[in-house]
Amino acid sequence: MTLDAAWAVDWTRRSAASVAEHRDELVELDRQIGDGDHGENLSRGFRAVVAKLDALDPPPATVGDVLRIVATTLMSTVGGAAGPLYGTAYLRASKSGTATELGPDGVVALLEAALDGIVTRGKATVGEKTMVDAWTAAVAAAVDAADHGAPPSQVLAAAARGAQEGARSTVPLVATKGRASYLGERSAGHLDPGARSSELILAAAAEAAAD
Ligand code: ADP
Ligand code: MG
Ligand code: MG
Repeated sequence: MTLDAAWAVDWTRRSAASVAEHRDELVELDRQIGDGDHGENLSRGFRAVVAKLDALDPPPATVGDVLRIVATTLMSTVGGAAGPLYGTAYLRASKSGTATELGPDGVVALLEAALDGIVTRGKATVGEKTMVDAWTAAVAAAVDAADHGAPPSQVLAAAARGAQEGARSTVPLVATKGRASYLGERSAGHLDPGARSSELILAAAAEAAAD
């Protein structure tokens, strides 16, 4: 489909559904190396986002308008580390999504902006066992796909696969940022919850573009 405001709404709805579906898994992942609130916080946040989108009349006109609502709602409802991190990611992405329709380069720019927001906010680099690992691999895969002439839906599909690999790569790592870093070496051997939720969100973006 065309990557316009309707796609962004569909992406958001699919993200909310996926996060809700994987709520217990995210809770369990965060229980292993954090405080166990990631699944609940994020599913509550996305529920609020969907309620906000449902109540909007007229509906948002651009991808950027949709993502700004996601950003502000997640910031005010999620809390913890993930609230400000995802909030900043969506806010930066919203500023890059001002065109009525995203082409391959627009998708890359949006993903780069989101990653940039997460890094600006959390100061993590690749390999610190955070959501940055998922987003960095997603951006790299998206850039590569766009460079090879892929259409926007395929750029997003590549990003989703990259995010999956990036999330998997966090398993053996020792966390050096966020709450999991308190565990030191004991954080190794666990999937990072924020990398996993990032993987779900990017899979939702690709699924919305595929239909
Ligand atoms: P909290 O740790 O405050 O309970 P959450 O459980 O909602 O927050 O989110 C934890 C996730 O946030 C981690 O799995 C990790 O992916 C991400 N995270 C934490 N700190 C950072 C950081 N400085 N930079 C990027 N991501 C981070
Ligand atoms: Mg937590
Ligand atoms: Mg917490």
